[in-house]
Amino acid sequence: MQLVSLLFHDVYRRSPGESGFCSPGADRYKLTDCEWSSQLDGVAEARRDRPVLASALADRTSTEELPFLITVDDGGVSYHEVMADRLEKRGWRGHAFVTTDYIGQTGFLSAGQIRDLDRRGHVIGSHSASHPSPFSACRRQDMLAEWTTSRKVLEDLLGHSVSISSLPGGYFSSTVAETAAEAGLTVLFTSEPVTRTSRSGPCTIVGRFAIRAGADPGFS
Ligand SMILES: [Zn+2]
Repeated sequence: MQLVSLLFHDVYRRSPGESGFCSPGADRYKLTDCEWSSQLDGVAEARRDRPVLASALADRTSTEELPFLITVDDGGVSYHEVMADRLEKRGWRGHAFVTTDYIGQTGFLSAGQIRDLDRRGHVIGSHSASHPSPFSACRRQDMLAEWTTSRKVLEDLLGHSVSISSLPGGYFSSTVAETAAEAGLTVLFTSEPVTRTSRSGPCTIVGRFAIRAGADPGFS
């Protein structure tokens, strides 16, 4: 299966500190409100179809146009305050990958906001519990605990199964995938810029193309 998955982080109106993790590295991936709109315009110009949801990938047939997805990492509050509305105006939905230890902290989504996004049709997924970096340097049992804990937090919060995840920091290894699968996750998004998906047991591994601040909104 092939997919084009776009990876966004936070969007801000005045200062990058408004949403998500704050560091020079994290800020490189934060877009202004205006840049976020331009990126969506660029996608909409290139595509007449809507972005698909990872929860529905199994329903797709191989004859359809290369599907695309919109994913947003970290669980910053801007997904609820800015990004979701802008997606919904186009009839689109995206994926919010939440770092569960940060739920309710300043700059991050609250439990109520996560429930609201879920009700509105956005896919809520795990972005680990504590966002260790590099994730691939963690011990195996710590990786498993990160996936298991964050998945349970989200399932308790939403009252339904959560099986979609994204890898913090982009540090992939076979053990990362194995532990995600062991934790019951069926899709793991990485930061490898590839369109072809792969498998690790029951878990589908999906690459993504990260959109940085200042990136050309052209989509080809
Ligand atoms: Zn992250």
